[in-house]
Amino acid sequence: MFRYHPDPVATGSAVATDEACSLCGVERGVRYVGPVYGDRPDILCLHCIASGEAAKRLGAPGVMPAMFSDAIHVPDDVPAGVVDEVTMRTPGFSSWQQAGWLYHCADAAAFLGNAGYADLAPHPAAVESLRQDRERLGWPAEQFEEFVTSLDKDGEPTAYLFRCLHCGTYLASWDIG
Ligand SMILES: [Zn+2]
Ligand SMILES: [Zn+2]
Repeated sequence: MFRYHPDPVATGSAVATDEACSLCGVERGVRYVGPVYGDRPDILCLHCIASGEAAKRLGAPGVMPAMFSDAIHVPDDVPAGVVDEVTMRTPGFSSWQQAGWLYHCADAAAFLGNAGYADLAPHPAAVESLRQDRERLGWPAEQFEEFVTSLDKDGEPTAYLFRCLHCGTYLASWDIG
């Protein structure tokens, strides 16, 4: 259902429920539990996010739609329509700090979930993207090994793993914490 967030149940952004969606009134079996920048309904189904109904009805009518993730550090070559789809029609994910989507090949990447060191280790490109981020922030290189091996899928700090839909490159961001 979501190109940029293929399995929201696996990532923890959606959980099972037997209650009906507060917007559409349909029992869908799963409800969204990730962030909502807007009015949070009791129960929100994924169909209402996919259709854009949730963005339209949970925001300020005529002023601003609701969003499910922030548009931060969006590269210039990414079309505005992609950013709209990511922020308004794609389930977001919970993070300790503000976490935005990652982009590659002029498109948004697919969010695969939280990742600890064991999840990142098989993807050297993802580890490298973290290393470059850290260097940009001026962290001493020798602290990187310690940092990357301390990443914990269920704890803090954690990393967020993405995969480019075009070239298949794995990318990672992390909570600054
Ligand atoms: Zn619904
Ligand atoms: Zn790519």
